[in-house]
Amino acid sequence: MNPGARIVILGKQGAGKGTQAVRLSRHYVVPHVATGDIFRASVRSGSEFGQKAKKYLDAGELVPDEVVIGMVRERLSQSDAMHRGFILDGFPRTVGQAEALMGFLEPEPLDVVINLEIATGEVLGRLASRRVCSDCGANYSVADNPPRVSGICDVCGGDVVQRDDDTESAIRRRLELYERETAPLIEWFEKRSLLATIAGAGAPDEVTDRLVAEVDGRRQLRRS
Ligand code: ADP
Ligand code: ZN
Repeated sequence: MNPGARIVILGKQGAGKGTQAVRLSRHYVVPHVATGDIFRASVRSGSEFGQKAKKYLDAGELVPDEVVIGMVRERLSQSDAMHRGFILDGFPRTVGQAEALMGFLEPEPLDVVINLEIATGEVLGRLASRRVCSDCGANYSVADNPPRVSGICDVCGGDVVQRDDDTESAIRRRLELYERETAPLIEWFEKRSLLATIAGAGAPDEVTDRLVAEVDGRRQLRRS
């Protein structure tokens, strides 16, 4: 019924991007490609690559473009993404990354780039209460969406913890870099008629409904 989709989701830290991306990936049955999750997994694995990445992550700095671009290109060339599509979460984050992405997706374009919008005043509270499964990356909130058993992931039984980069200084740095490096992408994709801005406020289910309606609308347009 939902044969694939090619979606990018943009939004500042705490907009609910990860939560919504997981839901969209189930709805459209496409892989959820989240660069932050991939980096956190390599940090956990203790590989040399992970040790290098950890420095950037903990400080809230961006991993250099060449590294991220190579990693995403490789992931999107795997057969699930080639055949069904993907939901890209956390990439692109700079104009350089966006240019590279459009290049390696040729000739098939994206369905839509979603700008999940939320007021900065709202994200700080969301980030403070955010917890994440250290095994599968599922997101929780101690304020309004805690795991059923405190500290244990509903999905996989892993440990639910606060992220190392959800500290005040790393959050401030990530929001700063979002404004400087990632916010310009909104206009960049708008010019290419790919952008859809969706309100990220409200209950997660309501937001998902808005997103699915938008994505379906775009895909119908493209196919007509
Ligand atoms: P958030 O959106 O809350 O900052 P993510 O999980 O998307 O969290 O990313 C965590 C970290 O991973 C970033 O702060 C950065 O260090 C690194 N990272 C993820 N995606 C990218 C990217 N596209 N370019 C550069 N660095 C990235
Ligand atoms: Zn889990």
